Amino acid sequence: MKFSRELSILNVMEPIVSDLFDNNYVKTGALKCDCEKCQIDIILLTLNHLPPHYTSSQTGEAFIKASYLNSQLQSDVLREITEAVKIIENNPNH
Ligand SMILES: [Zn+2]
Repeated sequence: MKFSRELSILNVMEPIVSDLFDNNYVKTGALKCDCEKCQIDIILLTLNHLPPHYTSSQTGEAFIKASYLNSQLQSDVLREITEAVKIIENNPNH
């Protein structure tokens, strides 16, 4: 089935994890290794540990904005990111 651009399927955890990771680890220089491979591995590991939350891409934008006001969601995601950072730093895939 083909969907219009507005109705594509989005796991909103993807942009949320990627943004939180970027703001809390990449931009702050907190990573031991900040190569692309490690960054992607950390995001993948985090996403695999979090329940996905699928929406249409249109609804997704509103959900993503609202997620920044949801401190419980933010701290759950950050906790998983922190775990993933530890694991990948100890076992970099290169
Ligand atoms: Zn690396």
